[in-house]
Amino acid sequence: MAAPTTSRRGPGAARNMDDDNLTFETSPGVEVVSTFDQMGIKDDLLRGIYGYGFEKPSAIQQRAVLPIINGRDVIAQAQSGTGKTSMISLTVCQIVDTAVREVQALILSPTRELASQTERVMLAIGDYLNIQVHACIGGKSIGEDIRRLEHGVHVVSGTPGRVCDMIKRRTLRTRAIKLLVLDEADEMLSRGFKDQIYDVYRYLPPELQVVLISATLPHEILEMTSKFMTEPVRILVKRDELTLEGIKQFFVAVEKEEWKFDTLCDLYDTLTITQAVIFCNTKRKVDWLTERMRTNNFTVSAMHGDMPQQERDAIMTEFRSGETRVLITTDVWARGLDVQQVSLVINYDLPNNRELYIHRIGRSGRFGRKGVAINFVRKDDIRILRDIEQYYSTQIDEMPMNVADLI
Ligand code: ADP
Ligand code: MG
Repeated sequence: MAAPTTSRRGPGAARNMDDDNLTFETSPGVEVVSTFDQMGIKDDLLRGIYGYGFEKPSAIQQRAVLPIINGRDVIAQAQSGTGKTSMISLTVCQIVDTAVREVQALILSPTRELASQTERVMLAIGDYLNIQVHACIGGKSIGEDIRRLEHGVHVVSGTPGRVCDMIKRRTLRTRAIKLLVLDEADEMLSRGFKDQIYDVYRYLPPELQVVLISATLPHEILEMTSKFMTEPVRILVKRDELTLEGIKQFFVAVEKEEWKFDTLCDLYDTLTITQAVIFCNTKRKVDWLTERMRTNNFTVSAMHGDMPQQERDAIMTEFRSGETRVLITTDVWARGLDVQQVSLVINYDLPNNRELYIHRIGRSGRFGRKGVAINFVRKDDIRILRDIEQYYSTQIDEMPMNVADLI
């Protein structure tokens, strides 16, 4: 086995994320600013950024922060776990005038957990700004939404359905909104969400700044951006640069569906070395697998979109704290969620599209950490795996015996 090529600051420490190996295709005029000090960020925000533990901007932050805080429309793509969502929090904190108690920035995310995560990061980074942020998400009390919004907040981080609802009730006032951010933008502009996003967009002021963020931005999505963006600054990554060196990808040939379960049981000790996320393609399968693992005396937790929000929240809290180590879930967990201790992702089922593959395996290997992704491949799945391999010009080898050593 090859020795790690990057110097590490200690076990589990992050590799340098301002790595020049990450190459971007950028619009002309995009500067690279290598320190937060040089970005013209307000002092109280700088204190928050350093206090949160960020020392140096990542590659995407070095390129995209400036155009965003300068008011440009921006399309920013970078590999998973390289600080895109954190960049939303810090640029929004910079742009918002806390002296004005009105909603000035609206951040939309595809899942409730991601919208809440962004709220939390913003509150932490913006600690010295007294910035008021509200997560406006489904499954929570509408009364509480109304109370918070009427009391006055600077930023709303939400999911499209609830945000739309609050706008239509005129509880979320849009007249002072100057910035709209779509995190996981390709998902937000895809079939499931597009109409809701356009619905929200119609209520926003005409001189709106729009920022799109994602690790994956397929052509058809980029093509539609001209409808609602003005001369956007583009910072993009080529498809063959999208998989991270730090995430090793493997497959296990399971022949038949029935063999997957035993394979997973055999891997259980490996799963619990740090933390692991196991993806199934349906909620029913998550329930079934969870039940079966528990019957066989394995400790696992599970989360999917049919669970009551309170239960989802409790499961997230336990998993984030490290109290639980193995999470069986659906694609509700595929995008954006950041738990640094996750170092192993299992695709119990292969994902239904190429983008999801990148997002799922990107739950491990956060900010330069090591990660391992293991794909369970039935005979008739081999084609799909080879397609992913080819599409991203990456390598997915057969899982070695010593896979635990790679975590
Ligand atoms: P992405 O949205 O690109 O997947 P996130 O913004 O969720 O990435 O960040 C991934 C992890 O990296 C988070 O734990 C975050 O706190 C951390 N991180 C982001 N930017 C920096 C930075 N400049 N320095 C150190 N850690 C960072
Ligand atoms: Mg993100």
